[in-house]
Amino acid sequence: HHRNKHEHEYLEAIDEVFETLQPVFLKHPKYIEQFERLAEPERQIIFRVPWVDDRGNQRINRGFRVQMSSALGPYKGGLRFHETVNLSIIKFLAFEQVLKNSLTTLMIGGGKGGSDFNPKGKSDGEVMRFCQSFMTELYRHLGPDTDIPAGDINVGSREIGYLFGQYKRLANNFSGVITGKDMSWGGSLIRPEATGYGCVYFADNFVKYKNATLEGKKCLVSGSGNVAQYTVEKLLDFKAVPITMSDSSGCIVEPNGFTREGLAFIKDLKNVKRGRISEYTKFSKTAEFFPNKKPWDVPANYAFPSATQGEITAYDAKSLITNGVQGVFEGANMPSTPGAIEMFKKVGLMFGPAKAANAGGVAVSGLEMAQNSQRQQWTRDVVDAKLEVIMKEIFQTSLNAAREYCVDDDIQAGANIAGFLKVADAMVQQGTV
Ligand code: NDP
Repeated sequence: HHRNKHEHEYLEAIDEVFETLQPVFLKHPKYIEQFERLAEPERQIIFRVPWVDDRGNQRINRGFRVQMSSALGPYKGGLRFHETVNLSIIKFLAFEQVLKNSLTTLMIGGGKGGSDFNPKGKSDGEVMRFCQSFMTELYRHLGPDTDIPAGDINVGSREIGYLFGQYKRLANNFSGVITGKDMSWGGSLIRPEATGYGCVYFADNFVKYKNATLEGKKCLVSGSGNVAQYTVEKLLDFKAVPITMSDSSGCIVEPNGFTREGLAFIKDLKNVKRGRISEYTKFSKTAEFFPNKKPWDVPANYAFPSATQGEITAYDAKSLITNGVQGVFEGANMPSTPGAIEMFKKVGLMFGPAKAANAGGVAVSGLEMAQNSQRQQWTRDVVDAKLEVIMKEIFQTSLNAAREYCVDDDIQAGANIAGFLKVADAMVQQGTV
């Protein structure tokens, strides 16, 4: 706390994990030292990113890369371009990433990076020059066995392409140094689907463990972006009934559930036409649009928050519980506030925390690295089957850790404990470095 006293987001993340690790520290006090070591990043890089805008003006942004832990493998984690980015946010995300990556069963450490640059409203040329300048500093810290970034908020396929191109030019080396690449130059099939599909696989494991099924169950999905779309798609595969989707303008309710045709309309609307979710009512006569509303007061069985952080407050949690929801599976990062999680735990609702439930995205990024090392591209079926196995293992490992440390079915604590122990043991074995 003393060393990071101005970093609120980072301290909040550390405190949340520290709290759930108490049963581990009580049983094995020596792990406290490893926690202290893990909380200090192995390396933090902060650099100037100068670039020239379309009017010829010099512009300056700040770039970050926090290489948090390489105990389990090379640093891995996304780059976020957003005006709110600062060191505290990147450290919080990097810390979470270490535990998430540990859970994936793959050999990947954790890191995160980004810049306070916002690509919204910038021309393609400006975005390209920014990405090139960003990579001109960062490339010396990366490598396919050192640090492998990926996308995050506002870093999509366009930015990944520009960043990769500049890396390749400077390093004179074509390697899988970034994931989320286009399929034609090293990307993995199923990567776009991975987070949504993985979240539903995770939910399937959880509900089966509780002797329930997804089949026939009404599901609330928020958001209509990447995670939400593929969550709905996989719910349909499981014969569940997804009845809501949303965006920042409001929420649509489709009382009988989305069909595959309805989902195809939404994918086209959001990914190609860049339209608003309300336009879905032109496609479906049964759907209703509720402006500025979230889906959390619609009666249903399960909820899949897949839009953004903080979207389920304690108030929303109460509404979910009152409306019969028995399970919440986090597709987004940190969608439930601490107050909401407290309410879920009080009523014993199935709670799949983001770190475990949405780890499918980074897991398939790990599989992209494996394919790049082999110079091969696996089929959709091969990658999807591996993803399904990984999500099952994440659930089981979290459950086992929860049981061993006497917190019953507390998968949130179990995920933190299992993720931490694997990293901590590796740190001990590798010596004090
Ligand atoms: P997208 O940008 O594709 O979609 C985000 C969706 O959420 C959009 O529908 C957007 O609406 C909506 N949204 C954003 N902010 C708000 C808000 N304040 N209120 C209501 N709706 C909002 O992002 P992704 O689907 O990729 O990511 C969603 C979440 O999942 C994020 O938390 C991300 O960090 C997390 N995540 C994503 C992974 C991935 O592989 N993509 C991996 C792990 C986590 P609008 O269209 O109006 O902007």
